[in-house]
Amino acid sequence: MGVEAYVVGGYVRDSILKRPSEDIDIVVLGSGIEVATKVAKELDPSIQVKVFKNFGTAMFQFRGEKNWEVEFVGARKESYRLNSRKPIVEDGSIEDDHKRRDFTINALAFSLNKKNFGQLLDPFNGVSDIESKCIQTPLDPDITYSDDPLRMMRAIRFAAQLGFHIEEKSFDAISRNAKRIKIVSKERVLDELNKIILCPKPSNGFDLLEKSGLLTYVFPELLNLKGVDTRNGIGHKDNFYHTLEVLDNLSLHSNNLWLRWAALLHDIAKPATKSFFEGQGWTFHGHEFKGAKMVPKIFSSLKLPMNEKMRFVQKMVLLHLRPIVLSQEIVSDSAIRRLLFDAGDDIDDLMTLCEADITSKNETKVKRFLANFKLVRQKLIEIEEKDNIRNWQPPISGELIMQTFSIQPSRQVGVIKDAIRNAILDGEVSNNFDDAFEFMVKKGSEIGLTMVNK
Ligand code: ATP
Repeated sequence: MGVEAYVVGGYVRDSILKRPSEDIDIVVLGSGIEVATKVAKELDPSIQVKVFKNFGTAMFQFRGEKNWEVEFVGARKESYRLNSRKPIVEDGSIEDDHKRRDFTINALAFSLNKKNFGQLLDPFNGVSDIESKCIQTPLDPDITYSDDPLRMMRAIRFAAQLGFHIEEKSFDAISRNAKRIKIVSKERVLDELNKIILCPKPSNGFDLLEKSGLLTYVFPELLNLKGVDTRNGIGHKDNFYHTLEVLDNLSLHSNNLWLRWAALLHDIAKPATKSFFEGQGWTFHGHEFKGAKMVPKIFSSLKLPMNEKMRFVQKMVLLHLRPIVLSQEIVSDSAIRRLLFDAGDDIDDLMTLCEADITSKNETKVKRFLANFKLVRQKLIEIEEKDNIRNWQPPISGELIMQTFSIQPSRQVGVIKDAIRNAILDGEVSNNFDDAFEFMVKKGSEIGLTMVNK
Protein backbone atom coordinates (compact mmCIF):
# COMPACT_ATOMS: atom_id res chain seq x y z
CA MET A 1 0.00 0.00 0.00
CA GLY A 2 3.05 2.24 0.22
CA VAL A 3 2.07 3.25 3.74
CA GLU A 4 4.69 3.63 6.47
CA ALA A 5 3.95 1.45 9.51
CA TYR A 6 5.49 0.83 12.93
CA VAL A 7 4.92 -1.49 15.87
CA VAL A 8 4.72 0.86 18.87
CA GLY A 9 4.34 1.04 22.62
CA GLY A 10 3.87 -1.83 25.05
CA TYR A 11 4.75 -4.63 22.61
CA VAL A 12 8.17 -3.12 21.88
CA ARG A 13 8.79 -2.43 25.57
CA ASP A 14 7.79 -5.95 26.56
CA SER A 15 9.86 -7.59 23.85
CA ILE A 16 12.95 -5.78 25.18
CA LEU A 17 11.99 -6.83 28.70
CA LYS A 18 11.37 -10.39 27.41
CA ARG A 19 7.85 -10.30 28.85
CA PRO A 20 5.40 -12.36 26.84
CA SER A 21 2.79 -10.21 25.11
CA GLU A 22 -0.02 -10.91 22.67
CA ASP A 23 -1.18 -7.35 22.03
CA ILE A 24 0.43 -5.52 19.13
CA ASP A 25 -0.23 -1.84 18.44
CA ILE A 26 0.61 -0.63 14.95
CA VAL A 27 0.80 3.02 13.95
CA VAL A 28 0.53 3.88 10.26
CA LEU A 29 1.07 7.15 8.43
CA GLY A 30 -2.38 7.14 6.92
CA SER A 31 -5.66 5.39 7.66
CA GLY A 32 -5.35 2.72 10.38
CA ILE A 33 -8.73 1.34 9.36
CA GLU A 34 -7.78 0.81 5.70
CA VAL A 35 -4.47 -0.86 6.58
CA ALA A 36 -6.11 -3.12 9.19
CA THR A 37 -8.71 -4.27 6.67
CA LYS A 38 -6.12 -5.05 4.03
CA VAL A 39 -3.73 -6.86 6.42
CA ALA A 40 -6.55 -8.97 7.84
CA LYS A 41 -7.65 -9.95 4.33
CA GLU A 42 -4.10 -11.02 3.43
CA LEU A 43 -3.71 -13.06 6.62
CA ASP A 44 -7.05 -14.83 6.44
CA PRO A 45 -10.17 -13.56 4.66
CA SER A 46 -12.41 -14.93 7.41
CA ILE A 47 -10.94 -12.58 10.07
CA GLN A 48 -13.49 -10.10 11.43
CA VAL A 49 -12.12 -6.58 11.73
CA LYS A 50 -13.63 -4.38 14.44
CA VAL A 51 -13.67 -0.76 13.37
CA PHE A 52 -13.94 2.17 15.81
CA LYS A 53 -14.66 5.02 13.42
CA ASN A 54 -14.78 7.70 16.15
CA PHE A 55 -11.24 6.87 17.23
CA GLY A 56 -9.93 6.11 13.75
CA THR A 57 -8.78 2.69 14.95
CA ALA A 58 -9.40 -0.89 13.90
CA MET A 59 -8.43 -4.20 15.47
CA PHE A 60 -8.63 -7.90 14.82
CA GLN A 61 -7.73 -11.13 16.52
CA PHE A 62 -5.56 -13.66 14.79
CA ARG A 63 -4.75 -17.14 16.00
CA GLY A 64 -1.20 -17.98 15.01
CA GLU A 65 1.43 -19.31 17.37
CA LYS A 66 -0.25 -16.98 19.90
CA ASN A 67 -3.72 -15.43 20.22
CA TRP A 68 -2.68 -12.14 18.68
CA GLU A 69 -4.72 -9.01 19.16
CA VAL A 70 -3.56 -6.42 16.64
CA GLU A 71 -4.70 -2.82 16.72
CA PHE A 72 -4.08 -0.20 14.01
CA VAL A 73 -4.23 3.55 14.30
CA GLY A 74 -3.11 6.50 12.19
CA ALA A 75 -0.16 8.53 13.54
CA ARG A 76 -1.50 11.41 15.64
CA LYS A 77 -0.71 14.73 17.07
CA GLU A 78 -2.64 15.60 20.21
CA SER A 79 -3.48 18.79 22.06
CA TYR A 80 -5.31 19.01 25.36
CA ARG A 81 -7.88 21.21 27.04
CA LEU A 82 -7.95 21.90 30.77
CA ASN A 83 -11.14 20.11 31.77
CA SER A 84 -10.85 16.86 29.86
CA ARG A 85 -8.39 14.05 29.33
CA LYS A 86 -9.71 13.65 25.79
CA PRO A 87 -7.39 15.47 23.40
CA ILE A 88 -8.05 17.26 20.14
CA VAL A 89 -6.51 14.92 17.59
CA GLU A 90 -4.98 15.67 14.19
CA ASP A 91 -3.00 13.55 11.75
CA GLY A 92 0.70 13.70 12.54
CA SER A 93 4.13 12.26 11.82
CA ILE A 94 5.69 9.30 13.63
CA GLU A 95 7.65 11.88 15.66
CA ASP A 96 4.39 13.54 16.75
CA ASP A 97 3.05 10.15 17.65
CA HIS A 98 6.06 9.39 19.85
CA LYS A 99 5.56 12.66 21.69
CA ARG A 100 2.01 11.80 22.70
CA ARG A 101 3.15 8.61 24.45
CA ASP A 102 3.08 8.54 28.23
CA PHE A 103 6.54 7.24 29.13
CA THR A 104 9.90 6.96 27.41
CA ILE A 105 9.73 3.16 27.86
CA ASN A 106 6.46 3.22 25.89
CA ALA A 107 7.68 5.65 23.20
CA LEU A 108 9.55 2.97 21.28
CA ALA A 109 8.84 1.56 17.84
CA PHE A 110 9.94 -1.19 15.46
CA SER A 111 9.89 -0.26 11.80
CA LEU A 112 7.78 -2.43 9.49
CA ASN A 113 9.03 -0.64 6.37
CA LYS A 114 11.13 -2.12 3.62
CA LYS A 115 13.92 0.42 3.91
CA ASN A 116 14.69 -0.32 7.58
CA PHE A 117 12.55 -3.31 8.55
CA GLY A 118 12.97 -4.28 12.22
CA GLN A 119 14.92 -1.16 13.14
CA LEU A 120 14.26 0.16 16.65
CA LEU A 121 13.20 3.81 16.94
CA ASP A 122 14.04 5.19 20.35
CA PRO A 123 13.74 8.99 20.26
CA PHE A 124 13.66 9.49 24.06
CA ASN A 125 16.24 6.92 25.23
CA GLY A 126 13.56 4.49 26.35
CA VAL A 127 15.90 1.50 26.11
CA SER A 128 18.32 3.11 28.52
CA ASP A 129 15.38 3.76 30.89
CA ILE A 130 14.35 0.12 30.59
CA GLU A 131 17.91 -0.86 31.54
CA SER A 132 17.99 1.46 34.53
CA LYS A 133 14.38 0.56 35.42
CA CYS A 134 13.26 4.16 35.28
CA ILE A 135 9.84 5.59 34.51
CA GLN A 136 9.83 9.10 33.11
CA THR A 137 7.81 11.07 30.59
CA PRO A 138 9.16 12.05 27.15
CA LEU A 139 8.10 15.69 27.63
CA ASP A 140 7.67 17.98 30.66
CA PRO A 141 6.07 15.74 33.32
CA ASP A 142 3.85 18.52 34.69
CA ILE A 143 2.26 18.92 31.26
CA THR A 144 2.12 15.17 30.54
CA TYR A 145 0.31 14.38 33.81
CA SER A 146 -1.88 17.44 33.78
CA ASP A 147 -2.98 16.73 30.17
CA ASP A 148 -4.06 13.18 30.96
CA PRO A 149 -4.05 12.49 34.72
CA LEU A 150 -4.67 8.77 34.14
CA ARG A 151 -0.95 8.64 33.30
CA MET A 152 -0.22 9.17 37.02
CA MET A 153 -1.98 5.91 37.83
CA ARG A 154 -0.26 4.24 34.89
CA ALA A 155 3.17 5.39 36.10
CA ILE A 156 2.57 3.83 39.49
CA ARG A 157 1.07 0.70 37.98
CA PHE A 158 4.08 0.21 35.67
CA ALA A 159 6.45 0.84 38.60
CA ALA A 160 4.67 -1.84 40.65
CA GLN A 161 4.23 -4.27 37.77
CA LEU A 162 7.77 -4.07 36.37
CA GLY A 163 9.66 -3.32 39.61
CA PHE A 164 10.78 0.08 38.23
CA HIS A 165 11.24 3.38 40.05
CA ILE A 166 9.64 6.68 39.07
CA GLU A 167 12.16 9.41 38.26
CA GLU A 168 12.16 12.12 40.92
CA LYS A 169 10.93 15.02 38.77
CA SER A 170 8.18 12.83 37.45
CA PHE A 171 7.14 11.78 40.95
CA ASP A 172 7.10 15.38 42.14
CA ALA A 173 4.90 16.27 39.18
CA ILE A 174 2.51 13.44 40.10
CA SER A 175 2.32 14.81 43.65
CA ARG A 176 1.59 18.30 42.31
CA ASN A 177 -1.08 17.09 39.89
CA ALA A 178 -2.67 14.39 42.09
CA LYS A 179 -5.89 16.36 42.47
CA ARG A 180 -6.47 16.27 38.73
CA ILE A 181 -7.17 12.53 38.89
CA LYS A 182 -10.73 13.69 39.61
CA ILE A 183 -11.32 14.38 35.90
CA VAL A 184 -10.61 10.73 35.02
CA SER A 185 -13.52 8.29 34.91
CA LYS A 186 -13.71 5.98 37.90
CA GLU A 187 -13.73 2.95 35.62
CA ARG A 188 -10.30 3.83 34.19
CA VAL A 189 -8.89 4.47 37.65
CA LEU A 190 -10.28 1.14 38.82
CA ASP A 191 -8.62 -0.70 35.90
CA GLU A 192 -5.26 0.58 37.08
CA LEU A 193 -6.05 -0.09 40.74
CA ASN A 194 -6.92 -3.68 39.90
CA LYS A 195 -3.68 -4.08 37.96
CA ILE A 196 -1.75 -2.78 40.98
CA ILE A 197 -3.61 -5.21 43.25
CA LEU A 198 -2.66 -8.08 40.94
CA CYS A 199 1.08 -7.25 41.07
CA PRO A 200 3.41 -9.71 42.79
CA LYS A 201 3.98 -7.19 45.62
CA PRO A 202 1.02 -4.79 45.58
CA SER A 203 2.26 -2.75 48.57
CA ASN A 204 4.87 -1.17 46.27
CA GLY A 205 2.06 0.41 44.26
CA PHE A 206 -0.02 1.43 47.29
CA ASP A 207 3.01 3.03 48.94
CA LEU A 208 3.47 5.19 45.85
CA LEU A 209 -0.25 6.01 45.71
CA GLU A 210 -0.06 7.13 49.33
CA LYS A 211 3.19 9.09 49.04
CA SER A 212 2.05 10.93 45.90
CA GLY A 213 -1.26 11.94 47.48
CA LEU A 214 -3.31 10.05 44.87
CA LEU A 215 -4.75 7.65 47.43
CA THR A 216 -6.77 10.48 49.01
CA TYR A 217 -8.73 10.75 45.79
CA VAL A 218 -8.84 7.18 44.54
CA PHE A 219 -9.39 5.18 47.73
CA PRO A 220 -9.85 7.42 50.81
CA GLU A 221 -11.21 4.62 53.02
CA LEU A 222 -7.89 2.79 52.76
CA LEU A 223 -5.94 5.91 53.65
CA ASN A 224 -8.15 6.30 56.70
CA LEU A 225 -6.45 3.23 58.17
CA LYS A 226 -3.17 5.10 58.39
CA GLY A 227 -1.82 6.39 61.66
CA VAL A 228 -1.41 5.33 65.26
CA ASP A 229 -3.14 6.72 68.34
CA THR A 230 -1.40 6.51 71.68
CA ARG A 231 -3.06 6.74 75.07
CA ASN A 232 -1.29 6.22 78.43
CA GLY A 233 1.75 5.21 76.44
CA ILE A 234 -0.18 2.44 74.65
CA GLY A 235 -0.39 2.51 70.85
CA HIS A 236 -2.08 0.19 68.36
CA LYS A 237 -0.62 -1.07 65.11
CA ASP A 238 -0.83 1.10 62.00
CA ASN A 239 -3.65 -0.60 60.14
CA PHE A 240 -2.69 0.83 56.75
CA TYR A 241 0.71 -0.85 56.76
CA HIS A 242 -0.73 -3.95 58.40
CA THR A 243 -3.32 -4.20 55.59
CA LEU A 244 -0.63 -3.86 52.92
CA GLU A 245 1.42 -6.56 54.60
CA VAL A 246 -1.59 -8.87 54.64
CA LEU A 247 -2.17 -8.15 50.94
CA ASP A 248 1.48 -8.92 50.13
CA ASN A 249 1.39 -12.13 52.19
CA LEU A 250 -1.80 -13.22 50.49
CA SER A 251 -0.39 -12.42 47.06
CA LEU A 252 2.29 -15.08 47.60
CA HIS A 253 -0.48 -17.68 47.79
CA SER A 254 -3.36 -16.44 45.65
CA ASN A 255 -3.90 -14.66 42.33
CA ASN A 256 -7.61 -14.28 42.98
CA LEU A 257 -8.39 -10.58 42.53
CA TRP A 258 -11.42 -10.78 44.84
CA LEU A 259 -9.56 -12.48 47.65
CA ARG A 260 -6.96 -9.74 47.29
CA TRP A 261 -9.76 -7.15 47.59
CA ALA A 262 -10.91 -8.96 50.73
CA ALA A 263 -7.39 -8.59 52.15
CA LEU A 264 -7.48 -4.86 51.39
CA LEU A 265 -10.85 -4.46 53.07
CA HIS A 266 -10.64 -6.92 55.97
CA ASP A 267 -9.89 -4.24 58.58
CA ILE A 268 -11.56 -1.33 56.78
CA ALA A 269 -13.89 -0.61 59.73
CA LYS A 270 -11.12 -0.41 62.32
CA PRO A 271 -11.11 3.41 62.42
CA ALA A 272 -14.89 3.45 62.83
CA THR A 273 -14.90 0.93 65.69
CA LYS A 274 -11.81 2.06 67.59
CA SER A 275 -12.08 2.58 71.37
CA PHE A 276 -9.71 2.77 74.28
CA PHE A 277 -10.53 1.11 77.61
CA GLU A 278 -8.48 1.61 80.76
CA GLY A 279 -6.72 -1.59 81.65
CA GLN A 280 -7.63 -3.21 78.34
CA GLY A 281 -6.05 -0.92 75.75
CA TRP A 282 -7.28 -0.42 72.18
CA THR A 283 -10.20 -2.43 70.84
CA PHE A 284 -11.87 -2.61 67.44
CA HIS A 285 -14.93 -4.44 68.60
CA GLY A 286 -17.24 -5.58 65.82
CA HIS A 287 -15.02 -4.27 63.02
CA GLU A 288 -15.77 -7.40 60.99
CA PHE A 289 -19.53 -6.74 61.06
CA LYS A 290 -19.21 -3.04 60.39
CA GLY A 291 -16.59 -3.75 57.70
CA ALA A 292 -18.91 -6.19 55.92
CA LYS A 293 -21.60 -3.50 55.97
CA MET A 294 -19.20 -0.97 54.43
CA VAL A 295 -18.29 -3.25 51.51
CA PRO A 296 -21.29 -2.47 49.22
CA LYS A 297 -20.80 1.28 49.60
CA ILE A 298 -17.10 1.05 48.83
CA PHE A 299 -17.75 -1.26 45.86
CA SER A 300 -20.33 1.10 44.48
CA SER A 301 -18.16 4.20 44.91
CA LEU A 302 -15.15 2.56 43.25
CA LYS A 303 -17.37 1.13 40.45
CA LEU A 304 -16.55 -2.43 41.44
CA PRO A 305 -19.24 -4.97 40.48
CA MET A 306 -22.27 -5.21 42.78
CA ASN A 307 -22.68 -8.94 42.22
CA GLU A 308 -21.50 -12.24 43.69
CA LYS A 309 -17.90 -10.93 43.73
CA MET A 310 -19.01 -8.21 46.13
CA ARG A 311 -20.88 -10.75 48.26
CA PHE A 312 -17.78 -12.95 48.35
CA VAL A 313 -15.63 -10.05 49.62
CA GLN A 314 -18.32 -9.17 52.14
CA LYS A 315 -18.36 -12.72 53.42
CA MET A 316 -14.58 -12.84 53.77
CA VAL A 317 -14.56 -9.56 55.71
CA LEU A 318 -17.38 -10.77 57.96
CA LEU A 319 -15.75 -14.11 58.74
CA HIS A 320 -12.09 -13.12 58.87
CA LEU A 321 -11.79 -13.45 62.64
CA ARG A 322 -13.58 -16.75 63.00
CA PRO A 323 -10.69 -19.13 62.28
CA ILE A 324 -8.46 -17.04 64.57
CA VAL A 325 -10.87 -17.44 67.45
CA LEU A 326 -11.03 -21.16 66.74
CA SER A 327 -7.29 -21.55 66.64
CA GLN A 328 -7.01 -20.06 70.12
CA GLU A 329 -9.55 -22.37 71.75
CA ILE A 330 -9.80 -26.07 72.10
CA VAL A 331 -11.68 -26.60 68.90
CA SER A 332 -15.08 -28.20 69.30
CA ASP A 333 -16.72 -30.08 66.45
CA SER A 334 -19.73 -27.79 66.60
CA ALA A 335 -17.60 -24.64 66.16
CA ILE A 336 -15.97 -26.21 63.11
CA ARG A 337 -19.37 -27.24 61.73
CA ARG A 338 -20.60 -23.66 62.12
CA LEU A 339 -17.60 -22.23 60.34
CA LEU A 340 -18.03 -24.71 57.50
CA PHE A 341 -21.71 -23.88 57.26
CA ASP A 342 -21.09 -20.12 57.18
CA ALA A 343 -18.12 -20.19 54.80
CA GLY A 344 -19.38 -22.98 52.50
CA ASP A 345 -17.19 -23.48 49.45
CA ASP A 346 -15.17 -20.36 50.32
CA ILE A 347 -13.61 -21.98 53.38
CA ASP A 348 -10.20 -22.51 51.73
CA ASP A 349 -10.03 -18.87 50.63
CA LEU A 350 -10.99 -17.79 54.15
CA MET A 351 -8.20 -19.88 55.67
CA THR A 352 -5.70 -18.43 53.16
CA LEU A 353 -6.79 -14.91 54.13
CA CYS A 354 -6.48 -15.68 57.85
CA GLU A 355 -3.00 -17.10 57.45
CA ALA A 356 -1.99 -13.97 55.53
CA ASP A 357 -3.41 -11.88 58.40
CA ILE A 358 -0.60 -13.01 60.70
CA THR A 359 1.85 -10.13 60.59
CA SER A 360 3.45 -10.44 64.02
CA LYS A 361 7.19 -9.79 64.09
CA ASN A 362 7.58 -12.37 66.84
CA GLU A 363 8.67 -15.54 65.07
CA THR A 364 7.66 -17.87 67.89
CA LYS A 365 4.16 -16.41 67.82
CA VAL A 366 3.93 -16.71 64.04
CA LYS A 367 4.99 -20.36 64.23
CA ARG A 368 2.42 -21.05 66.92
CA PHE A 369 -0.41 -19.33 64.99
CA LEU A 370 0.45 -21.17 61.78
CA ALA A 371 0.57 -24.49 63.62
CA ASN A 372 -2.85 -23.72 65.13
CA PHE A 373 -4.28 -22.92 61.72
CA LYS A 374 -2.89 -26.19 60.44
CA LEU A 375 -4.86 -27.96 63.15
CA VAL A 376 -8.00 -26.00 62.22
CA ARG A 377 -7.53 -26.96 58.56
CA GLN A 378 -7.08 -30.62 59.56
CA LYS A 379 -10.20 -30.51 61.69
CA LEU A 380 -12.14 -28.85 58.86
CA ILE A 381 -11.26 -31.74 56.57
CA GLU A 382 -12.26 -34.35 59.18
CA ILE A 383 -15.62 -32.75 59.96
CA GLU A 384 -16.42 -32.10 56.31
CA GLU A 385 -15.74 -35.76 55.50
CA LYS A 386 -17.94 -36.86 58.38
CA ASP A 387 -20.82 -34.37 58.20
CA ASN A 388 -20.69 -32.86 54.72
CA ILE A 389 -21.60 -29.37 55.90
CA ARG A 390 -20.14 -27.18 53.11
CA ASN A 391 -23.26 -27.06 50.97
CA TRP A 392 -25.64 -28.36 53.54
CA GLN A 393 -29.25 -27.24 53.84
CA PRO A 394 -31.21 -28.08 57.01
CA PRO A 395 -33.77 -30.88 56.38
CA ILE A 396 -36.80 -28.71 57.28
CA SER A 397 -37.78 -25.86 54.98
CA GLY A 398 -39.61 -22.65 55.87
CA GLU A 399 -42.45 -23.86 53.68
CA LEU A 400 -42.89 -27.00 55.78
CA ILE A 401 -42.85 -24.98 59.01
CA MET A 402 -45.68 -22.78 57.69
CA GLN A 403 -47.72 -25.78 56.57
CA THR A 404 -47.21 -27.69 59.81
CA PHE A 405 -48.41 -24.88 62.05
CA SER A 406 -50.69 -23.31 59.44
CA ILE A 407 -49.01 -19.92 59.72
CA GLN A 408 -48.19 -17.15 57.25
CA PRO A 409 -44.63 -16.01 56.46
CA SER A 410 -43.56 -14.34 59.71
CA ARG A 411 -40.77 -13.85 62.21
CA GLN A 412 -41.84 -17.10 63.93
CA VAL A 413 -40.85 -19.10 60.84
CA GLY A 414 -37.35 -17.63 61.01
CA VAL A 415 -37.06 -18.32 64.75
CA ILE A 416 -37.93 -21.98 64.29
CA LYS A 417 -35.72 -22.36 61.23
CA ASP A 418 -32.72 -20.88 63.05
CA ALA A 419 -33.36 -23.05 66.09
CA ILE A 420 -33.37 -26.21 63.94
CA ARG A 421 -30.22 -25.20 62.12
CA ASN A 422 -28.40 -24.32 65.33
CA ALA A 423 -29.46 -27.51 67.09
CA ILE A 424 -28.12 -29.62 64.23
CA LEU A 425 -24.87 -27.66 63.92
CA ASP A 426 -24.38 -27.95 67.69
CA GLY A 427 -24.93 -31.69 67.50
CA GLU A 428 -28.02 -31.60 69.79
CA VAL A 429 -30.27 -32.96 67.05
CA SER A 430 -29.20 -35.50 64.45
CA ASN A 431 -29.04 -34.41 60.88
CA ASN A 432 -32.10 -36.30 59.60
CA PHE A 433 -35.68 -35.41 58.72
CA ASP A 434 -37.50 -37.28 61.51
CA ASP A 435 -35.42 -35.93 64.39
CA ALA A 436 -35.50 -32.43 62.93
CA PHE A 437 -39.31 -32.64 62.49
CA GLU A 438 -39.77 -33.71 66.08
CA PHE A 439 -37.58 -30.83 67.23
CA MET A 440 -39.59 -28.40 65.11
CA VAL A 441 -42.86 -29.47 66.74
CA LYS A 442 -41.32 -29.07 70.20
CA LYS A 443 -39.86 -25.66 69.35
CA GLY A 444 -43.21 -24.53 67.88
CA SER A 445 -45.10 -25.47 71.01
CA GLU A 446 -42.60 -23.50 73.12
CA ILE A 447 -43.63 -20.36 71.29
CA GLY A 448 -47.33 -21.16 71.41
CA LEU A 449 -47.86 -22.89 68.05
CA THR A 450 -49.69 -26.15 67.58
CA MET A 451 -49.39 -28.61 64.79
CA VAL A 452 -52.41 -28.88 62.51
CA ASN A 453 -53.26 -32.41 61.44
CA LYS A 454 -53.66 -32.88 57.73
P1 ATP B 1 -0.49 -2.91 29.24
O1 ATP B 1 -0.94 -3.78 28.12
O2 ATP B 1 0.23 -3.59 30.35
O3 ATP B 1 -1.55 -1.97 29.74
P2 ATP B 1 0.64 -1.11 27.31
O4 ATP B 1 1.82 -0.20 27.37
O5 ATP B 1 0.53 -1.97 26.10
O6 ATP B 1 0.67 -1.95 28.63
P3 ATP B 1 -1.87 0.06 26.56
O7 ATP B 1 -2.88 0.68 27.46
O8 ATP B 1 -2.25 -1.10 25.74
O9 ATP B 1 -0.63 -0.22 27.49
O10 ATP B 1 -1.31 1.21 25.61
C1 ATP B 1 -0.50 0.98 24.50
C2 ATP B 1 0.45 2.14 24.30
O11 ATP B 1 -0.30 3.35 24.11
C3 ATP B 1 1.34 2.42 25.49
O12 ATP B 1 2.50 1.66 25.47
C4 ATP B 1 1.61 3.91 25.34
O13 ATP B 1 2.61 4.15 24.39
C5 ATP B 1 0.32 4.43 24.79
N1 ATP B 1 -0.61 4.92 25.81
C6 ATP B 1 -1.60 4.24 26.44
N2 ATP B 1 -2.26 5.01 27.29
C7 ATP B 1 -1.70 6.22 27.23
C8 ATP B 1 -1.96 7.47 27.85
N3 ATP B 1 -2.92 7.61 28.76
N4 ATP B 1 -1.19 8.51 27.50
C9 ATP B 1 -0.21 8.40 26.57
N5 ATP B 1 0.09 7.26 25.96
C10 ATP B 1 -0.63 6.17 26.26
